[in-house]
Amino acid sequence: MGIIKLEEARYPQLDTLDRDQTIFIVPVGMLEQHGPHLPVGSDSIQSEARAQVTSEALNARRPNLNVVIFPLIPLGVHPVELLNPSFKHVGSFWVRHKTLRDILVDVGLSIANYNFKFIVIESGHASPMHMMAIDAASKYVSEKRNVKMFHVNPLVGPIDVTEINSMLKEPIDQAELDKAKFDFHAGIWETSRILYLRPELVDEEYVKLKSTSLEKIEDIYRRVKDKDWKGFLGVPKLGKKDFGEVSLKIYGERAAEVILKILDGAEIPEVEKWFQKISVNDQKILDESLYEMERRLEEDLNLWIGENGILKRYLGDLQNEGSH
Ligand SMILES: [Zn+2]
Repeated sequence: MGIIKLEEARYPQLDTLDRDQTIFIVPVGMLEQHGPHLPVGSDSIQSEARAQVTSEALNARRPNLNVVIFPLIPLGVHPVELLNPSFKHVGSFWVRHKTLRDILVDVGLSIANYNFKFIVIESGHASPMHMMAIDAASKYVSEKRNVKMFHVNPLVGPIDVTEINSMLKEPIDQAELDKAKFDFHAGIWETSRILYLRPELVDEEYVKLKSTSLEKIEDIYRRVKDKDWKGFLGVPKLGKKDFGEVSLKIYGERAAEVILKILDGAEIPEVEKWFQKISVNDQKILDESLYEMERRLEEDLNLWIGENGILKRYLGDLQNEGSH
């Protein structure tokens, strides 16, 4: 049957899917400011596009395989500007890591309930607790049910800019490209992909933005605190439509390769995440305080539910009324 968008399918179609030859792809996005030049839904737009190119690459390699694309889950965990309390622009709307984890547990279980065996989470947003939430949900569902559920993006690994550049009609100057080595947020990669996917949403002034270059990955934690930080980390002005197109195509092919290996019986590899490569002290800068903030909110919410138990009252009423 090829590629199916879940929300467009009717149940007789879904009933006939071979449980061992069907892969569900669940794209997870994020609403986060992406500099003054890109839309706040940039991660969501890219996540859906990556789900699509991956499905196409899977379909080209194994035409008998079914790929079901789950509707986008547009919410993610922790925008990068939480590192800079003086960044006051409106643009990031996020959920607690437990919220994302629980949504993915529920989604995974609801797919597993029909005995489908492969669930791929597609999400490029890379805040540590966002990635850990996806991993926790995936491991839980995989362990409790006879399924393989995993986050594909870290398994694909980084794509070499030089490789992409060599495929462009007009390659970018290598010296310029070297400045984009740690291009992390709304820089060359994301600007290029949105220029390719949704050019009308990109402010054309992006070519005038002064770059934030990073020497090493942990500079992320410092450069966002620069005075006049504009909300991006990297080199947006190098963004090019065909760079975006080629990078997506390569991504789709690599992701399909990884997924097929796992479908064919390989173990899900354990890979080190970017933040696990930096010092614990650097990681703590952000995550300890965010964890504490989430913990306090949850405590308050549980207390409130205890006192104002709307759902409990409803269920209690159902039980009391049940005997009439
Ligand atoms: Zn992004």
